[in-house]
Amino acid sequence: MDDRAAAQVAPYVGRFAPSPTGLLHAGSLVAALASWLDARAHDGRWRVRIEDLDTPRNVAGAAEAILRQLDTLGLRADAAVVRQSRRTALYEAALQRLEALGRAYPCACSRRDIALAVAAPAAGDPRAEAIYPGTCRAGLHGKTPRSVRLRVEAVEGSGEARIDWLDRRLGAQHQDVARAVGDFVLKRADGVFAYQLAVVVDDAEQGVTDVVRGEDLADSTARQIVLQRLLGVPTPRYLHTPLVRAADGAKLSKQTGAEPLALDDPLAALRDAGRVLGIEAHGTRLADWLASAVARWRDRVEPAGGDGDALGHDARLAAARTPPRP
Ligand SMILES: [Zn+2]
Repeated sequence: MDDRAAAQVAPYVGRFAPSPTGLLHAGSLVAALASWLDARAHDGRWRVRIEDLDTPRNVAGAAEAILRQLDTLGLRADAAVVRQSRRTALYEAALQRLEALGRAYPCACSRRDIALAVAAPAAGDPRAEAIYPGTCRAGLHGKTPRSVRLRVEAVEGSGEARIDWLDRRLGAQHQDVARAVGDFVLKRADGVFAYQLAVVVDDAEQGVTDVVRGEDLADSTARQIVLQRLLGVPTPRYLHTPLVRAADGAKLSKQTGAEPLALDDPLAALRDAGRVLGIEAHGTRLADWLASAVARWRDRVEPAGGDGDALGHDARLAAARTPPRP
């Protein structure tokens, strides 16, 4: 776990990385607040990155609206906001590096090709329908390349590409990337760099030591660690925050029609997000409440008399794992 030891020495850099597919809602505020609190509690820096690569899903004006929402909430970045859409040269360089390592290869398969291939009886595993069967690993045989995929190698002799990682809230995690995901896409058929590649490149380039984000992204972590190791960049620490559930139990998200945050009362929105995180802060003014919340968070990551090690599995964070039903 040398990577984490290295990250501990590096000055703390956290980030919040929203996609401009709509405004912040109660669920995304939880991740924003947690990443901000964690950065402030570690006397670190907090950066905001607009993840706007998926141009077909971007909503005009949403990035600016999100930044206004964060400003209204008192959550302000310490450096200029970066936008992934202006950083494609970095992703291209990383892709070329993976190609040079012999780990990236062109794929000519359409969704339909993959569906047909995995429907074949030989596919076996009933979960295999989501997993690319490696059709183009041995070359395109004259077909036109569409996307670029990562060759996920099984660990020598074990038949596994198992990644183990520690989440500060969820505890020990693992995923066999070869079996659970397979050769995943690095660059899509429409020319858009995949989320997994862009995030790894950006976190490394921005010196991010701590990723604090919603639990819906926990499943991406193993794929990102695979890429970090191949690209020779540090693995940050990870903390995945509780998801906010709608009344019917579904995850609150833009896709499920979550209401944008009403910011006529920003303090009320922060209190709600704090409750999901198990933070009981005080103060009737925004700045006072935020200062109190930072103090509560600091108590949690640096218990009194402790050695200040915020890396381990924190029992109190674990207690906050189940968000209260609304
Ligand atoms: Zn293919």
